[in-house]
Amino acid sequence: MVPPRFGQWSTIHSPRSKQPFLCGHELAPSSTRLTPVTDASGESPAQLEAGRRGIEEMTRKSIEECRIQDDDTSKARGYEVSEMESVPLNPHEIPTDNPSAIYTTQPMGSSYPVECLLHSAAAKRELVEFPGYPLEIHRPSEVEERSYTIVDIPGKGLGMVATQDIEQGDLIASERPLLLAPHGMCGFRDIWFEYEATQEEQQAAMFSEVERVLRVAYDRMRPDDQAAYMKLHNAHLDDGSGPLLGILRTNVYSLFDMQGSKYTGVFNELSRINHSCCPNADRTFHRASLSMRLYAVRDIQKGEEITTSYCDLLAPFAKRQQYLARYGIHCECPPCLYPVESDENRRRISRLKNAVPAIIKWAATPALRDDLLIVPALTILRLLVGEGLEATQHYTQALYHTMLIFAALGTEGDKIGYLCCIEEWARLRRWDAEGRNPAEKAKCDLEKVKVASRARRLLAAREGEGVVVDTPEVE
Ligand SMILES: [Zn+2]
Repeated sequence: MVPPRFGQWSTIHSPRSKQPFLCGHELAPSSTRLTPVTDASGESPAQLEAGRRGIEEMTRKSIEECRIQDDDTSKARGYEVSEMESVPLNPHEIPTDNPSAIYTTQPMGSSYPVECLLHSAAAKRELVEFPGYPLEIHRPSEVEERSYTIVDIPGKGLGMVATQDIEQGDLIASERPLLLAPHGMCGFRDIWFEYEATQEEQQAAMFSEVERVLRVAYDRMRPDDQAAYMKLHNAHLDDGSGPLLGILRTNVYSLFDMQGSKYTGVFNELSRINHSCCPNADRTFHRASLSMRLYAVRDIQKGEEITTSYCDLLAPFAKRQQYLARYGIHCECPPCLYPVESDENRRRISRLKNAVPAIIKWAATPALRDDLLIVPALTILRLLVGEGLEATQHYTQALYHTMLIFAALGTEGDKIGYLCCIEEWARLRRWDAEGRNPAEKAKCDLEKVKVASRARRLLAAREGEGVVVDTPEVE
């Protein structure tokens, strides 16, 4: 979960100037209203036109109601509450003019729609033209027995618990966001003050304005989704955030970049998962199906809490606690109970870099010891497992390095090590985002290592026959 950056939701100006906030508001907020007007529904063109006008009128009315309501309840003082100018849009088209914000329900006609608040028409284009979009969401719970439940966790509020044994690499859940919005909401609004406002006044104005922008998206959600959104935890009850913004700031996950902005999402169930600095599950966002996938990074036993990470897992204990405090979290996971030892281990792990070129060089140099790389590679893997960091890319990278080293060594014992590493690596990379195929890269690196190690074995055999090989300097 990435909190919105303060101070960048809106631009603060002084003195006042008049600029309306332009937003493109698509006319069909839910799947029930997504039938194109050209649909062969048996209605006459006049009836269809009347229906379309009715929808337009309803949408305008809802924006108007939202504006009046928010203006009445605004706590902000000293600035001009913006005019929100609505441009009705056809949901089946991407507008050619460019409103500063677009409210759209995606994917159109889906039973799991996402209410999206986008920066621009270009962002909508990028969203709907993504390769493969809109793919059906992969929901394991619909074809198999659901492997988790959401329950009260003592001291943590609600959380996710496994209802059956889950194996490493298994998909636990996949879910579309209730709401998709830009990270930090930057660039959405200009706020014009009549005088040099204090920081508190500027913040109150930003909170109020962002709440208004979110309210329009919220009003377009289905009633069930609105109820689910409002049931989520709000850790910002006392800092001036409105209810929608407070819930967004507490529950948002970073998803992907679009048109130079980061986009984030709030989820019904996935936002319930608690944090751990040694999480047993990880998330990837799948753009084509517009869904977040949660998968197990190690075996999870029935009854065990399913956890994910909200922060940089390789940051030291003090920094992690400082970051988590924003969510009202005081983490008491095992690494946080023994921070001195854990910090040292994580510091060592964080130094792990891409070692593939070094492995290929070693494989081609028979004078370098066989165990030169495998010993440190296994040490770093043990550290990663000991710290419970299987969810980090450092773990899959360490597995990958070890797999290549075993492949170069090539004895019978090494083959078992090689197979264990490559199988685990493939299990963890199964839910890789954006459909990249990691096996292609692995094949290419393995080929290079094999070619390099052929020289190693040939020369080693010649050494056995009494041929002297020069020993190069080892760094
Ligand atoms: Zn912790």
